[in-house]
Amino acid sequence: MGNQDNHPGTWESHQKVLVVLAHPDDPEFFCGATIYKWVQAGHEVHYCLITCGDKGTSDVTLSPDELCAIRQREQRAAARVLGVEDIKFLGYPDGYLVADIHLRRDLTRVIRTIKPDILITCDPQTLFTITGGLNHPDHRAAGQAALDAVYPSARDHLYFIELWNEENLEPHAVREVWVCGTLQPNVILDVTEFWETKIQALYEHKSQIGDPAKLADRMRKRRSNDSTAENPRYEERFRRIVLG
Ligand SMILES: [Zn+2]
Repeated sequence: MGNQDNHPGTWESHQKVLVVLAHPDDPEFFCGATIYKWVQAGHEVHYCLITCGDKGTSDVTLSPDELCAIRQREQRAAARVLGVEDIKFLGYPDGYLVADIHLRRDLTRVIRTIKPDILITCDPQTLFTITGGLNHPDHRAAGQAALDAVYPSARDHLYFIELWNEENLEPHAVREVWVCGTLQPNVILDVTEFWETKIQALYEHKSQIGDPAKLADRMRKRRSNDSTAENPRYEERFRRIVLG
């Protein structure tokens, strides 16, 4: 793996990355610039979105099913901007996600099917966000279930043995987990050159972002502390856990 310990997130060989998050738009908001950086470096990125995002509207004329369809379309378009084509939608209802054994089995199935080297999810410990708000309960549940699926159930064949017996899914050991939305980062990636593409991808979530110009303005203000007006820098932060 070369110098990855000194430069985490730079690999000499082709990596398969699986992003497991709660809602359509989470990948782009949480770590879209990093996803694009890795796609540009030749790595392969897959998404697994657990819920439909079917409660994310104030439009009283939209049914949950209609909103679900809109959000899946938007998510496909946003992913395409970042160079991601493969998306699994697990179809759980938005807002009620619980890190239970059923969700853990579903995520174990996805991990054993895609066999990622790297898994990105969000931090289940983040109750209060870095900006002082409340974290969405689905984000916490998604992160908890994804981590629980990585270790130990995706790795060891006797967990959910029906996946092995009936679906021929071999156990799979994820090598690194990258946790976004964390208050305890240990990796800070400079993603300045990928920031505008992240914003372009976010534009595709039309039902969620309101005025695109205001969103772009907000995103461009998220500069690192050492930025200057002439040289803005942008970062995405992760807690990286190396498992093997
Ligand atoms: Zn979300």
